[in-house]
Amino acid sequence: MQAPETTDCELTVIGTGMAGMAAALFAANRGLSTVQVGHSGGILFASGLLDLMGVHPVAAQKVWQDPWAAIDALVRDEPHHPYARIKKEDIRAAFDELLGFLNEAGLGYRRNGERNTQVLTSLGTVKPTYAVPETMWTGAQAFANKIPCLLVDFQGMREYSARQMAAIQKERWPALQTLRVVFPDTENVAEVYTGLMAQALESPATRKKLVERVRPHAQGVEAVGLPAIFGLYRTREILADLTNGIGVPVFEIPTLPVSVPGLRLKETFEFKLPAKGIRALRQQQVLEARPSSQGGFRLGIGDKAIEHYLHTRSIILASGRFLGKGLLAERKRIRETIFDLPVSQPVSRSGWHQKSFLDPRGHAFNRAGLEVDHCFRPLDAGGRPAFPALFAAGSILAHQDWVRMKCGSGVAIATAYAAVRACLEQK
Ligand SMILES: Cc1cc2nc3c(=O)[nH]c(=O)nc-3n(C[C@H](O)[C@H](O)[C@H](O)COP(=O)(O)OP(=O)(O)OC[C@H]3O[C@@H](n4cnc5c(N)ncnc54)[C@H](O)[C@@H]3O)c2cc1C
Repeated sequence: MQAPETTDCELTVIGTGMAGMAAALFAANRGLSTVQVGHSGGILFASGLLDLMGVHPVAAQKVWQDPWAAIDALVRDEPHHPYARIKKEDIRAAFDELLGFLNEAGLGYRRNGERNTQVLTSLGTVKPTYAVPETMWTGAQAFANKIPCLLVDFQGMREYSARQMAAIQKERWPALQTLRVVFPDTENVAEVYTGLMAQALESPATRKKLVERVRPHAQGVEAVGLPAIFGLYRTREILADLTNGIGVPVFEIPTLPVSVPGLRLKETFEFKLPAKGIRALRQQQVLEARPSSQGGFRLGIGDKAIEHYLHTRSIILASGRFLGKGLLAERKRIRETIFDLPVSQPVSRSGWHQKSFLDPRGHAFNRAGLEVDHCFRPLDAGGRPAFPALFAAGSILAHQDWVRMKCGSGVAIATAYAAVRACLEQK
């Protein structure tokens, strides 16, 4: 049998969710020789919206228009939240750098100055977010001004109903009309999927057919909202064609995962990061991690069994929580899966959840994670950095419930920025 190959690098990023992708980008931009390991998919769950900070305190469900003021309040009330370890100017710089990269790659984002934007979701609710895909921007403006809009859905599309969205918004946004059409060439299909419709819209002929079905119903409205299906690769072209064809601005409404905007993010990062020098081991994972006798770490990497080893000077651990598999809920404790680092968690399983699933305070389980020092180095049981060159970023960090706080991408992007910086300072 061939001896496993060994590679050397300055930094290994473990994870391909938003935190891992952002860390890889920031590392590449700073010239660190970087390997990124992780199964394709982490970023797929992203809705496309990039939240910074929307709700605090979660128990009061107070929604903030100004995410920066929300961060001030949060840091005052919850000094262990990851944002408490990062200066606001660094959070801003992290977003600017990431959005600049996406924009250059053709995935434009818009922001409402320093404020959050309210975006209508496919559930008919409205959520505050910070950076909005340009394909959704017209919808956010339409909601802000409550202009007459037509919401379109498709026969056979599950978990997306224009009629339900309009019904839920009836009081706030009465000028909504709805329309259900058959998506082109799916006349005999029982169920339609966003990914396949997005692929089909890459073809101008399909766009033309869709325009013909919607245009007659768009008289008297000022914008038309469709589920997020405006292609994967020609999104700007599709947006322009539909707008010109239908005769009013069109916009995307975020759908449930796996969403097309999530796929776009995945494709963009996976295509552009290697062009910046990132060596990506996409269908692999870290199966073994040990401090190396030469300093740094020796990682055993493969799909199911170790296929090769990697010597790395430092690591950014962005392996996520339960969904990403960075944390595992065992019978008696929550465990970190790669280094078995101590996890901040309730003393016993009975403390994981409140009695009511819908308790507005959320659950301690969702705040479990790694304790870190000011350099984002995970701590050992004695409260000291577990390893001098191991850093952590993203949802694996303790003391944040990103789903309820609406700070998922913000925590991922900002902590990735801080972890890369700490890693560079140590060089
Ligand atoms: C359903 C859903 C909807 C969301 N909607 C929004 C939204 O509207 N706005 C928003 O801002 N954010 C949203 N997010 C959250 C946002 O994407 C977060 O930033 C994200 O989930 C946290 O990212 P992460 O990179 O820390 O972890 P994850 O996304 O969980 O990624 C962890 C990665 O680590 C990898 N990994 C784990 N173990 C190993 C190993 N041993 N070796 C190699 N790799 C490993 C996994 O494969 C995965 O790629 C949503 C997330 C989900 C799940």
